Amino acid sequence: MITVENLSKSFPGKTSPVVALRDVSLDVSPGALYGVVGPAGAGKSTLARCVALKEKPDRGVVRFDGLNTAGLDGKRLREVRNQVAVLDMALHAERTAAGNVAAPLEQLGVDGPRRRARVGQVLDLLGLTQRAGQLPAELSKGQQRRIAIGRALAAGPTVLLADDPTGDLEPEESGTVLTVLDRARAELGVTVLVTTKDDSVVRRVCDEVAVLDSGRVVENGSVLDLVTDP
Ligand code: ADP
Ligand code: ADP
Repeated sequence: MITVENLSKSFPGKTSPVVALRDVSLDVSPGALYGVVGPAGAGKSTLARCVALKEKPDRGVVRFDGLNTAGLDGKRLREVRNQVAVLDMALHAERTAAGNVAAPLEQLGVDGPRRRARVGQVLDLLGLTQRAGQLPAELSKGQQRRIAIGRALAAGPTVLLADDPTGDLEPEESGTVLTVLDRARAELGVTVLVTTKDDSVVRRVCDEVAVLDSGRVVENGSVLDLVTDP
């Protein structure tokens, strides 16, 4: 589904360039919940931005379903971007939980009844049906994060990219967020790529994993074969 081939990326540094990604390759199967785990500065966000087509790598290729994204023009790039949802954690503070989930559907011009049906379905997946009318400030951090995921899923993407979705959450709230990502995969068939510093996150929900360190993939494959001890 997502293939990353020999991705390299550096940023200008004070004395020498900072290498964020060194020859990174990975293969995310359709319908997988794929985890990229590594310490701060390992290159996870840079990788996520490259896969989200928000950043151009210096070298290497990102493919979706075999399609090389490097040479895409405006219209075709937009088509691919429409299939690939990127988790944006900032909610509209003045809109309700339902309103936040509905926002992308409004932008797409989805009519009222279909919007309501889809928002209802997504809120159910999030386990937040009872919270539909509440404002973000009235929700816990974990609930807010789930609403942000719901907004990313509303328009029916095939891929969801979540860069450190649990980084600032308590363990219990992380659990509910991971459950939602797992349900997105299981019930909507969305391919999910998640980055995290936290080993336990990948162990809880991911089936495939890449371990990143200093911009390099040091290990990848099934989460069951992870070398590091829990
Ligand atoms: P992680 O998400 O694993 O913490 P990042 O991808 O944010 O890692 O960063 C990898 C390396 O690239 C770090 O050394 C970071 O300082 C550097 N880096 C990332 N983005 C930029 C940028 N826009 N400008 C300069 N350096 C950057
Ligand atoms: P806001 O105050 O954020 O604008 P609205 O009440 O206008 O929120 O709702 C925004 C969108 O969410 C509308 O498209 C509406 O159809 C949908 N919506 C609102 N409440 C629900 C609900 N309980 N279940 C499903 N969809 C809802």
